Amino acid sequence: MAKLQIMKCRDLGFNDDFIVIEQDREIAKKKMMDHILEKHKAEFEILSEMHQEEIRAKMDFLLTRGCGCGVKEL
Ligand SMILES: [Zn+2]
Repeated sequence: MAKLQIMKCRDLGFNDDFIVIEQDREIAKKKMMDHILEKHKAEFEILSEMHQEEIRAKMDFLLTRGCGCGVKEL
């Protein structure tokens, strides 16, 4: 059975309750990226390239680790 990928916008440092729940990790990342560029564009764009990379890396980390609510991949 495929595990669900869960990622919270809040976990990436933004202040809202957006959550992505997807079976496919790449789609989950894409949806979160779309959300960030739509709702947090201004916030995201003033970040340095390094900080933007950090957010992308954090997405990978969150998806690999699971969200701590019982969804884990190990
Ligand atoms: Zn958000």
